[in-house]
Amino acid sequence: MSDLRVRFAPSPTGYLHVGGARTALFNWLLARKQGGTFILRIEDTDVERSTKESVDAILQGMEWLGLDWDEGPFYQSENFPLYKQHVQQLLDEGKAYRCYCSPEELEARREQAMREGRKPKYDGRCRNLKDAPADKPSVVRFLAPQEGSTSFDDLIKGTISFPNEELDDLIIQRSDGTPTYNFCVVIDDASMRITTVIRGDDHVNNTPRQIQLYQALGFPVPQFAHVPMILGSDKARLSKRHGATSVIAYRDMGFLPEALNNYLVRLGWSHGDDEIFSRDEMVAKFDIGSVGRSASVFNSDKLLWLNAHYIKSGDPQRLSRLLLPFLAERGIDPAAGGPDLAAAVTTLQERARTMLEMADAVLFYYRAPEAYDQAALAKFEKAHLMAVYGVVAEKLAAATATTAAEFDALFKEICTENGWKMPQVGQPVRIALSGGTQAPGIGEMIVTLGTAEVVRRIERARQAVSE
Ligand code: GLU
Repeated sequence: MSDLRVRFAPSPTGYLHVGGARTALFNWLLARKQGGTFILRIEDTDVERSTKESVDAILQGMEWLGLDWDEGPFYQSENFPLYKQHVQQLLDEGKAYRCYCSPEELEARREQAMREGRKPKYDGRCRNLKDAPADKPSVVRFLAPQEGSTSFDDLIKGTISFPNEELDDLIIQRSDGTPTYNFCVVIDDASMRITTVIRGDDHVNNTPRQIQLYQALGFPVPQFAHVPMILGSDKARLSKRHGATSVIAYRDMGFLPEALNNYLVRLGWSHGDDEIFSRDEMVAKFDIGSVGRSASVFNSDKLLWLNAHYIKSGDPQRLSRLLLPFLAERGIDPAAGGPDLAAAVTTLQERARTMLEMADAVLFYYRAPEAYDQAALAKFEKAHLMAVYGVVAEKLAAATATTAAEFDALFKEICTENGWKMPQVGQPVRIALSGGTQAPGIGEMIVTLGTAEVVRRIERARQAVSE
């Protein structure tokens, strides 16, 4: 075990967003690569917006992606005594003070500053207050240094420096006694001994304030790595407008977790020209320093391409397990009869790009067609169809073939004997078996369905054509 300690700290105000998932993945990868510790912390201090459903959705997303955590989940809402204690410590040490300015007073001063062309910033008037006004509610403000600057060496963005005069005295405790966001993050990261904070770069502006708090509290300052945002195709921040952004929505659209992980790792990070990374390869090759500095554009076509790759090369048994819920939605239970699901899946791995496509394509194995693609049938003369169905049914009923290759050979033979071309036989048979023309190779289909069922379906199609 190395000393590296990282965390993913989502706010439970919605589902797990793909951007959050990528941040979680980068943290997880670094922890696994260095033998460090990956911690999950739920930042639920915003009671109004945090929900249990959202926590569950985030945990479900993490589990589905296989991003297992070593400690947690910890909940900020359970840490209030610790935050209070540290607010008190800063007050006792004269590093924080009570401020009695009301929100209305602050707003009026802010407007005046704007009118006068000054930066709206807290003017520090309660800093040296001798007599506290009686019965007036107060907040606690951090006494921020006014001179010099606060800098850090971001592992992704390089050195970032903020002049201290631009940072005003941060409110660390509200008038109702609750601690504020930046303060909780610092207390938690310090008490969890986080060594490297990897998070979205929408938090860059919080970092100097947090560093000042670490320093005031006497805590070691962690390293920071701010990951650039994910954008939609119009270069605006990725949102629902651009399509699905929830990890679970991708699962439900038939994406595999390894495809989404592979896609997300490449979004902003590269290793030469490599595109395909198994989990182990990702862990071995990931390096936070190689994450790019600019934002990345989400490309659903590439995700689809990766998904097709993982379906093609996937283990049929595992794909079958993942397919079951999709089949259940379609009213199919493969255990109730029909071909072995893994065998059926094998025949479709080359063509299905998602598990949804796979589910639709596999249906015919379990449900004989109720209707036939009339446009496809209309390409053949009725007499030809009757002849094909008659010959094929007869040949199959007598066939001793057992493998796909043997059945393919049998169909070649049928073609030669009757002077037909392969599509003149193949298409009508596909229509008879599946209802349409988009189906796997003839030999594979027959082996998977079994000759008895194939003959039954051909007879039925013949009947339908004759009517
Ligand atoms: N809770 C914050 C968020 O969801 C993350 C804060 C952090 O990583 O420091 O954006």
